[in-house]
Amino acid sequence: MTSLARETHDSDVSGGSSPRTSDLSDRYSRQILFPGIGAAGQQKLAAARIGIVGCGATGSALAGLLARAGVGSLRIIDRDYVEPSNLQRQSLFDETDAAESLPKAIAASRKIAAFNSEVEIDPKVEDLTPSNVEALLEGMDLILDGTDNFETRYLVNDYAVDRSLPWIYSAAVGSYAVTLNVLPGQTACLACMFPDSPRGMVETCETSGILNSAVNLVASIAATEALKLLVVGGLNAPTLRRTLLSFDLWTNDHAEISAAKPRAGCRACGERDFIHLAGEGRPHITLCGRNSVQIHERQRPIDFAEMDRRLQPHGIVRHNDFVLKFWHEPYEMTLFPDGRAIIKGTTDTAVARSLYARYVGS
Ligand SMILES: [Zn+2]
Repeated sequence: MTSLARETHDSDVSGGSSPRTSDLSDRYSRQILFPGIGAAGQQKLAAARIGIVGCGATGSALAGLLARAGVGSLRIIDRDYVEPSNLQRQSLFDETDAAESLPKAIAASRKIAAFNSEVEIDPKVEDLTPSNVEALLEGMDLILDGTDNFETRYLVNDYAVDRSLPWIYSAAVGSYAVTLNVLPGQTACLACMFPDSPRGMVETCETSGILNSAVNLVASIAATEALKLLVVGGLNAPTLRRTLLSFDLWTNDHAEISAAKPRAGCRACGERDFIHLAGEGRPHITLCGRNSVQIHERQRPIDFAEMDRRLQPHGIVRHNDFVLKFWHEPYEMTLFPDGRAIIKGTTDTAVARSLYARYVGS
């Protein structure tokens, strides 16, 4: 059984007590020496704001690389909490985070603050949906993909194309990595390349497993493209990749498909029909990597102390400031303060919904 510490946690993730002895020019000296960045480029990175959607394996690697590189502000959006099975590939988390079931956005922020307190981190323990995408991604200079599903990627694509914001699609499954830079108005968008969810990429980590090296490969490529975009700009960077790049590390098969121009008649960037942005009442979805269903509730503020008392007679209950966990064999429910829940032990949405209705509310 997963343990969950009962003590409360300091919600201030902006930094510890370590003295700020680092001199900015010294910290980034090796990067400034690289001609593509230089002192002027480093200043641009310090002023940049990046939104990272999803902080699992790819999101962790992206956030880690860009925070160390000196990107000024990172907003980390993730709906999930750390589990032991994440530690093989999710580089910002440790065993304590898993034992405490810490939300990934919070754990990531604490870890980054420990190695670069100069980066402003804004953790959001939320599921990106059509109703909050504006609030969560507004004001970003660039959006990076750390998600594990096409539903969220299409939503990000619609938002980014609508606002003419650059974003970078990244995915890794098995030993396979794939990535695409989307510069609205210049290059193909995600819907140009994949009008529907691609079959091969519907495989999840649960069915095919994943190598941590595939994650780090895709994150390294995407983070470098992000640096080019921020330092040189989308229009002026001749080295910015304008292809859909895929690489299988196990077989060494690799391919690039041109994405230099938007596809005529593309639903998103051509017809500007943003069906994912307009989407309401999204279905309950099954998460990657485990036997679980998420209940998309955001309007039901939960008093954890009160809920803990209510659930005590029905199973084992633990809570901290961020999550409440309820074990009711064979199910494990993780409840967030806004009412959202992840129910483990089933892939049947009806079972999950009825469990939620019985113990949380209908
Ligand atoms: Zn398009």
